[in-house]
Amino acid sequence: MMSKDIHLGMDDIDSPRSGCTTHFASLVVEFLTDWGAQWIDYPNLIRLNPNIPFRTRGNGAVALRFRIETDKAPDLLPVLKKMIRNYVELDYPNTNPGIVLVEGAIPVEVQKFSERALWRTISLAITKRSLEKKSIQHICDGNGRGLIGALAAVGNQLPQDHTYEFIAYRPLELLGQPRGVNDYSVAEMNRVMGERLFSSIDLKTERTLIAPHGPDPVLYGIRGENSQDVISAASYIRSDSSIERWMVFRSNQGTGAHLRNVVYIADLRPYMAAIVHGVIEKEPNMIEGGHAIFGISDCSGHIDCAAYEPTGEFRDMVTRLTKGDQVLVHAAVRPASRTHGLTLNVEGIEIIKLVKRIKMTNPLCPNCSKRMKSAGKGKGYKCIKCGFKEPIGTKTEVALERELEERVYLPPPRAQRHLTRPLERMNRRNAGIPEDLADNWHFP
Ligand SMILES: [Zn+2]
Repeated sequence: MMSKDIHLGMDDIDSPRSGCTTHFASLVVEFLTDWGAQWIDYPNLIRLNPNIPFRTRGNGAVALRFRIETDKAPDLLPVLKKMIRNYVELDYPNTNPGIVLVEGAIPVEVQKFSERALWRTISLAITKRSLEKKSIQHICDGNGRGLIGALAAVGNQLPQDHTYEFIAYRPLELLGQPRGVNDYSVAEMNRVMGERLFSSIDLKTERTLIAPHGPDPVLYGIRGENSQDVISAASYIRSDSSIERWMVFRSNQGTGAHLRNVVYIADLRPYMAAIVHGVIEKEPNMIEGGHAIFGISDCSGHIDCAAYEPTGEFRDMVTRLTKGDQVLVHAAVRPASRTHGLTLNVEGIEIIKLVKRIKMTNPLCPNCSKRMKSAGKGKGYKCIKCGFKEPIGTKTEVALERELEERVYLPPPRAQRHLTRPLERMNRRNAGIPEDLADNWHFP
């Protein structure tokens, strides 16, 4: 029997009461497995530019990659269309599902589209033009916005650094109820698994980060370095809610994939995810609400940067920056408003070079090493302890402790984006598309 490789991208398949795109994808995986699909990769959970204003709850888009008998391929989209209809509430105006289907190799243009979707905004019109140009089959509902994420997901095969997430789903009839994910079990999992997992707990607040808070079907998600690790880790978790299904995703979460482009200040555009290389020009100033605002400049211009109150200790670190410090600001570009111009929302800072801060102080007494007092204008200094006089003394320079290091600083895990490369992954890269899948990577 002849077979062909299929790549399915899907996005925005959700509604307030029924679910989210990853949950829908788990139903599709179950269906396709029964239908004879041979999986060539884990489902890919692709996080896109997190600054896009219209996205629902920061949901990731999903790509499924598999081999299927050639004569079954034409039935795929009609079947999926029915599945979407059964799944979403189409009277909910914020659901705009989109699915794209690519047969065989992913065109280079689509790969480039995906790279752009990580840090820029892409219009629906441009997306539709790309679909037409490459004759890519697709289905959509609502205003069709889901096609943007669907095409972006299908074109991103995660050929470089990637991570895994084990997502457990609860039965849909329990959606309104508390999840009851046991904090002690999360702490125990974290202790045993160590650096094989990331972003499970915010250590400072001891807050558990694996369970979401909305009414969606996700019970919890465990992020880690490989599929076997996240599957083993899940066996530690206890919860009040039962698990209806679970699945392992391969993902760009925790890889910093949105922050690969260094952009001049003059070239910044609203909603961009960018790294800006600049020098502190305006020292940090705390404004109402506890947000720290500072200004940077480069050869092309200057811009205000904001570190928000919820970033806690990160915001406090920002206030120690001083004029002349050289930094790489990891930023989300916030559009101008009536009260402020284009602003960088700071989601990380790499300090490249700290300037020396100097304080001028009176010299020390050569006899007793005590700091001397001024003996009056133009009269030098005197020691109040031993009476030593220094009639022609001058002030001396003392370097102030900066309390900062030349390294990357990030907000605490509770305030990080899904895509943020956390400190525990700073020097870690998982390379390559896996050749084999774990024996058990989804249930049912
Ligand atoms: Zn003295």
